[in-house]
Amino acid sequence: MKHDIEGGRSLSIRVRSLAITCLRALDNWIFGEIDAFAGVLGWEIDRSRPFTRRYRSPQFDALQRCGLCRGAGWTGRDDHVCGLCGGDGRIARLNAGASREK
Ligand SMILES: [Zn+2]
Repeated sequence: MKHDIEGGRSLSIRVRSLAITCLRALDNWIFGEIDAFAGVLGWEIDRSRPFTRRYRSPQFDALQRCGLCRGAGWTGRDDHVCGLCGGDGRIARLNAGASREK
C-alpha cells in the first residue's frame, strides 16, 4: 500500500515536471527571437512570469522627469512648451563627476 502512494506521488511529480518543461519550451519558442533581439540592443528583460516579458532600455536611466513642467512638456495656462525640456517632459540626468572633471 505504501508503495502505491509513493508511486502515485512519483508519477504526479513526473507529470508536473514534464508540464513545466513543455511550458518553458513553449515560452522560449514564443519569445526566443524577441529576447535575442533585445539582448543585441542591450535591453533588460524581465522574465518574472511565464509568457510575459517586460523589456527596458537602460538608456532611460539617463533621463529624469522635468522639474519645471513636472513631465507634462508645457507650462502655464496657455500651454507654452516648456523651456527647460523643449516639450519632452524629460531631461538628461547630470553626471555628478562631469562638472568636476571639466
Ligand atoms: Zn519641462
